Amino acid sequence: MKLNAVKKKENTSKLLKKLLLSNENQVFDLVLSYLSKYYRHQIYCRRNHYIYARGNWHICLVSHIDTVRDERMELNIIEDGDIIYARDDILGGDDRMGVCMMLDLITDENKPDLLFCNGEERGCTGVRKFIEDFYYFPSEKVSLFIELDRRGENDAVTYNEISRIFIRECGFCGKYGFTDQAGSSSDIYYLTEYYCIPSVNLSAGFFNEHSTEEYIDLEIYRTVKEKVKLILRDWG
Ligand SMILES: [Zn+2]
Repeated sequence: MKLNAVKKKENTSKLLKKLLLSNENQVFDLVLSYLSKYYRHQIYCRRNHYIYARGNWHICLVSHIDTVRDERMELNIIEDGDIIYARDDILGGDDRMGVCMMLDLITDENKPDLLFCNGEERGCTGVRKFIEDFYYFPSEKVSLFIELDRRGENDAVTYNEISRIFIRECGFCGKYGFTDQAGSSSDIYYLTEYYCIPSVNLSAGFFNEHSTEEYIDLEIYRTVKEKVKLILRDWG
């Protein structure tokens, strides 16, 4: 492995661990400080509810900051190569993996729109506030929401009819190596219903979420990240 690749691998795992060990409030701070380097005056934050960064691309990436774990308890992270889990606890990879991937993907050249919601696990409260605040979606360029909040390694989940038609017609799954799956609901359901922009939720590399059996696989994370990079490059 080249030195650059090793360095990148280390950085991702460091960032991910930091996100896992942070509470919601700290994640808000961390995300805001990360974004300020790239998006400057294009950041809109309603504390405790959402952070939105306006890019200049056709895709808006979406993830959620909250997890179902009890943040008052100390988290004991165990690493076994690329596999990470918590000692007798929920890890919170759902959806700190999605948050991590979004931060991990941005560069000076790579600046899609980003929406970090809070309260997805509490009835999608953050995305509802976002919709309350923005009658129209703030970027007229965005034509697809990609959420990174699905268990497993290659699922692509749609929640609305227009999303299903869109994904099918553009051959999304075949082109990028995902499998079309059904799901109940998530933040993007509301975004699509309200703004009439299609959406898809992709696997982010966590497994057995919401349980003490939860683990994350960094190798899968890296594979999905490369696929998302490709999607961004194609759809820019
Ligand atoms: Zn989730």
